[in-house]
Amino acid sequence: MSDIERLELLTRQMHLEPAEDYCYTNPLPSQGKEAIAVKTALMPNGQGIRLLKTLLSSYCEKNCVYCPFRSGRDMPRAAFTPDDFARLFHSLYQSGFVEGIFLSSSVFHGAVKTQDLLLDTASILRKRYQFRGYLHLKIMPGAEKDQIQQAMLLADRLSVNLEAPTSDALAILAPQKDFNSDLLNQLRWIQEIRAEKSPVLAWKGSWPSSATQFVVGAAGETDLDLLSATENLYQQTKISRTYYSSFSPIEDTPLENLSPSPPRREFRLYQASFLLRDYGFSMEDLVYNESGNLSQEIDPKLAWAEQHLLHKPLEINTASRAKLLRIPGIGPARADNIISLRRADLIKSFSKLRKMNLITHKSSPFILINGKSPTLQLNLF
Ligand code: SF4
Repeated sequence: MSDIERLELLTRQMHLEPAEDYCYTNPLPSQGKEAIAVKTALMPNGQGIRLLKTLLSSYCEKNCVYCPFRSGRDMPRAAFTPDDFARLFHSLYQSGFVEGIFLSSSVFHGAVKTQDLLLDTASILRKRYQFRGYLHLKIMPGAEKDQIQQAMLLADRLSVNLEAPTSDALAILAPQKDFNSDLLNQLRWIQEIRAEKSPVLAWKGSWPSSATQFVVGAAGETDLDLLSATENLYQQTKISRTYYSSFSPIEDTPLENLSPSPPRREFRLYQASFLLRDYGFSMEDLVYNESGNLSQEIDPKLAWAEQHLLHKPLEINTASRAKLLRIPGIGPARADNIISLRRADLIKSFSKLRKMNLITHKSSPFILINGKSPTLQLNLF
């Protein structure tokens, strides 16, 4: 297989999202007709970049029960050496085809050896090819602390996939992995290193952010389990982002007959996790049913507001920022803008806020404007 054929195979295998989210093009026509998938990914600063999301290898020695790459499964596989991969990526970057990379790998020759190969690749990109773009590097389950420190010098973001919210759930999904020593410790080490060491030698002079991912709906875990783990991770390991990936059965794996998890569940988990991260919500503020799950029918912020604000609406002219963030339809940017506006003058009308795009009809049942319910103001028009 040529380098470009291997990359085509690995990028296709890596993509868990629907194919239509990606743009397939042939970046190097001189080397063949293969089309490589890229997707515009939003960076933390809001900028979109064309991100190559791929594996260094799809050979795996582990047997996670939901995963297409599990050992023994009959499928085409490919792997790169660090030199070959870095050279190919450099040519794609030089041609303008990609602007950044998310580099992961299946585990082969042990986690430590695989992590070394990922580190070598990242190091060649940064040092030999002077790559200055975005690099998201995966940390292998069981990687060592000094490897994490090396990765922190090279990457913009590191991720350690916890896969499950508890050790019992992980034992169902990935019987060869240990929740604490292979995964949670690695996330803790990232934060320890940030707290203890100066980032002066990091490639950008600052430490990378960190993230994790959970598989949703494959191990009987509840939303309460997932969000409790999320809240702990935000607090203890200072991760920037938790990703939730709905389980979808893969042929010829032990879970091939399990039903897929509804996408709506994943969507509600994202909404709740943003409430925990950015809106001052705690676990007690989220409304669960008796099975420990969020309602899939209602936005979790709206569920809270219907219980707490419907009969005690908040005055928009005096509510604190923390209170404004509790109102459906008001996020951090709108809350800040409302506070600036009311510093200048008393806010008297709903329509003024609407015209300035500071509020929507979603908010109206839960607020007062200058003592009056906007629902009444609306009824006048
Ligand atoms: S270690 Fe990773 S790639 Fe290998 S089977 Fe498990 S989830 Fe899949």
